[in-house]
Amino acid sequence: MTDRLLDLLARKGLLLGDGAMGTMLQRAGLTDGGSPELWNVEHADAVQAIYQGYADAGSDIITTNTFGGTRYRLKLHHLQDRVFELNQAGAALAHAVAGDHRLVAGSMGPTGELMEPLGPLTIDEAAAAFAEQAAGLAAGGVDFFLVETMSSLDEVQAAVQGARQASELPVVVTMTFDTNFRTMMGVTPAQAVQTLFGWGVTVIGANCGNGPAEIERIMWEMAQARPEGAVLMAQSNAGLPRWHDGEISYDGTPEVMAGYAQRMRALGVQVIGACCGSTPEHMAAMRRALDGPPLAHYQPAFEASAAAPQSPPAGDGAARRAARRAQRSVE
Ligand SMILES: [Zn+2]
Repeated sequence: MTDRLLDLLARKGLLLGDGAMGTMLQRAGLTDGGSPELWNVEHADAVQAIYQGYADAGSDIITTNTFGGTRYRLKLHHLQDRVFELNQAGAALAHAVAGDHRLVAGSMGPTGELMEPLGPLTIDEAAAAFAEQAAGLAAGGVDFFLVETMSSLDEVQAAVQGARQASELPVVVTMTFDTNFRTMMGVTPAQAVQTLFGWGVTVIGANCGNGPAEIERIMWEMAQARPEGAVLMAQSNAGLPRWHDGEISYDGTPEVMAGYAQRMRALGVQVIGACCGSTPEHMAAMRRALDGPPLAHYQPAFEASAAAPQSPPAGDGAARRAARRAQRSVE
């Protein structure tokens, strides 16, 4: 099977991902207890309009509204018997918008269950759930699977295994390093890029997290450890979430995200997108930045020689994490 992602990368050198789905759906009226994936059939126009907004902004990749599309996540909405249908629908809508010049990424997020031995879920059970989701995504026409917002390597292994059971399409993996520059389960960026590359995953990176400043350091660490042949991908949140009148908003402006895109390119990251809080306006600003000349001089925005801090971030870290997890039902 041809790898359309690597083909397009070879042709363009650099690809612009897309932005958030969850915060866009909330703007369109998705309520707290609602199922984002159900919108693929019940509010298809709204989902398609979000995809279209990213296509118009210049994104090379449209990501499906299927982040919570495993049976474990859909069960929270009593939709566990509609895995294939809801994933296929989300993919088909994206495929219609993407046309011939853009790619469709089939989003696959965590099951929300803890893996053995910390929890009840075995790798084989999780793999079966991911295979079921991947089959629906493949039937809807995705070009590759995007396993994202992962914190456990065991769960990534299950997702990669499941995707490969369902289809020969490529699998891309991004993990979330939101806990002192590690994932919640303690995985470092270097461990992630080396382990995943060893499993035959070629495009590897980070998504979500604590905004562009942190992801810059994470991607710097990944770039240092990157095996020959690995392609890096970054999808940062649009800054940090702030609570205001009971609502979450993100403080990263389109200009901030344009600067982030430039800095990612300087680090050699080849697939650059955004996550929670980002909008078509952010992506359009990033597109303009990436269509312009690269930075003449790159200086890391952090102390590159410093060892990883040993203590958790101070200040409003706990509030930020709580806000982020509240958001995490959909990317
Ligand atoms: Zn996110």
